[in-house]
Amino acid sequence: MISPQTIEQITNRIDIIDVVSEFVKLKKRGANYLGLCPFHNEKTPSFTVSPAKEIYKCFGCGKSGNTITFLMEHEKYSYAESLKWLAQRYNIEIQETEVSDETRIVQQAAESLHALNNFAQKFFTEQLLQTEEGQGYALTYLEERGYDVQIIEKFQLGYNPQARNVFASAALQQQFSKEILLKSGLVVERNEELFDNYRGRIIFPIHNTTGKIIGFGARVIGKADKAPKYINTPENEVYVKSKILYGAYFARHSIDKNNECLLVEGYTDVISLHQAEIDNVVASGGTSLTADQLRIVKKYTNNLTIIYDGDAAGVKAAMRGLDMALEEGLNVKLVLIPDNEDPDSYVKKVGTSAFKKFIDAGKKDFILFQLEILLKEAANDITKKNDAVNQIAESLSRINKAEDFTRRNAYIHECAAVLKIDENGLINLVNKYINDRITKQEKSKPSAEETTETSVVEKNDDLFFHPDELQEKNLLRVLLEYGLNDWDSNMTIAAHIFKELDQFRFDNADMAVLYEVYKTQYEQGFNPSAKTLLYHENERVRTLVINVTLFPFELSRRWDEKLENIKVNNVDTSVQDVILSLNYFKLHKIKKMFEENQRDIELTKNWNEMLKLLEIHKYLKATEREITEQLGTVIMK
Ligand code: ZN
Repeated sequence: MISPQTIEQITNRIDIIDVVSEFVKLKKRGANYLGLCPFHNEKTPSFTVSPAKEIYKCFGCGKSGNTITFLMEHEKYSYAESLKWLAQRYNIEIQETEVSDETRIVQQAAESLHALNNFAQKFFTEQLLQTEEGQGYALTYLEERGYDVQIIEKFQLGYNPQARNVFASAALQQQFSKEILLKSGLVVERNEELFDNYRGRIIFPIHNTTGKIIGFGARVIGKADKAPKYINTPENEVYVKSKILYGAYFARHSIDKNNECLLVEGYTDVISLHQAEIDNVVASGGTSLTADQLRIVKKYTNNLTIIYDGDAAGVKAAMRGLDMALEEGLNVKLVLIPDNEDPDSYVKKVGTSAFKKFIDAGKKDFILFQLEILLKEAANDITKKNDAVNQIAESLSRINKAEDFTRRNAYIHECAAVLKIDENGLINLVNKYINDRITKQEKSKPSAEETTETSVVEKNDDLFFHPDELQEKNLLRVLLEYGLNDWDSNMTIAAHIFKELDQFRFDNADMAVLYEVYKTQYEQGFNPSAKTLLYHENERVRTLVINVTLFPFELSRRWDEKLENIKVNNVDTSVQDVILSLNYFKLHKIKKMFEENQRDIELTKNWNEMLKLLEIHKYLKATEREITEQLGTVIMK
């Protein structure tokens, strides 16, 4: 975990305008900045950024948040990745809080691998572009295949020389350990000697979605005789094959903008299409898609178009794993590249605009495409046709999210027509598959206890508060806003609030957490405020902080009017605001205790207990009166 000190350093440096401007064109309007919302399509700007509050809000689609949530939403970073991005931008060194030994070992290995991969990429690129062997052998080969230098540099291609250990010795000289070198797959060990593993090959660095190099693909030059055409990095701490979509880093903004992801098989397909300015394209590496890969696509778009070479094996491979895509709610289309071409060769042959036209015209819906193939295979065989109906019904049953209901019905209608079968019959069959799967899932469901945690989170997930919690929210507002100001010459407003609330507690679980987080940080000597807590690691805390600072008065107009009365004189109202907030908070809690006490009085049959309850009753009444009077004087002032 990133330490609170580092987070504080980062948050002190954050300039929301500077960060958002990287991605959105902003214009100054009064105290705020205005731009076209990056999260929904609009012609007139309603995306507002407040530098003072360090938050943004779109009045069109309602999206709101801080610099971190902006990066998470727009760049699809995780919370920690966003902080790291900011730290890098502001040259802040990240300190991590203590982690387990196991985690530390993994982290250290990952860091060493990243450092080595970085070094290796630079080394290989230099070999390709600046040595005689690289230029004469590898670069010529790439140029003959139609790649220009700009695209070679963009994808950071390289070359590993043919001699036994040029790279290995360069890396050892840089103090990379033998262990890490072996782990990276860049070198192999034979007779206690290290050899380059990718000798005489073109090197394709593989980036993760944040642009870090996690591994390499190495291709033979020319025809491969006995050696495999490609060698890839073995699985290690940073290279996990099932989570990689080659080119995703370079394609991500274009996928977002085009609202479509094109999927091809190989590295060279991706690079050629980018060179042809078709840049919303990634490669799966040829195997069937994994759930993790689909999740990467889904971060940017719901429309996946798979481009395949025309051979049957490729199509079959494509169809495996696609049921999963349907479950994820993706719209999957397929395009077949004709005449034994692949996307790489085809785009070079016909050019950019013809290629785009071909894709648009040739796109076939996955379900209907599957149906077509199955029917062709079945021909007049009744049993095979029956199998086809079942397989299609199975696929259709995967489209099972509430929002996809219409889409499934449209499919059923269309498929029934193509199959020349009764539509209701097909509906029944699809429902049977859905029921079968539900029954199966029920059986393997975790016990109730295991699921409670998530359901609590979901339940709390609304931004609306029960009226009971208004006072709690208001108190948190003054704490965040004025906590660090002086209450008097002895203590801060925060310290005063802690003292006053010693006997009281928060009822709303989230607000209780925020209060405790603030208190703990304050007592540990940090300076918590709305700004620093906007970047807290707990998402519920962050959401609540935004919530509290964004809508300070809207929930209580009466309150606002009272404060307005005070504000007329244009003096610092923080102390009055604190007194009001504290008193309303207490008053509310006391009323609640009062009601509870009243109920106990009515229920008790024990005389002694009754006396005790009556004492409490008296005490609560007196406190209530005291507070009401104090409220009166504050308001009168
Ligand atoms: Zn919007």
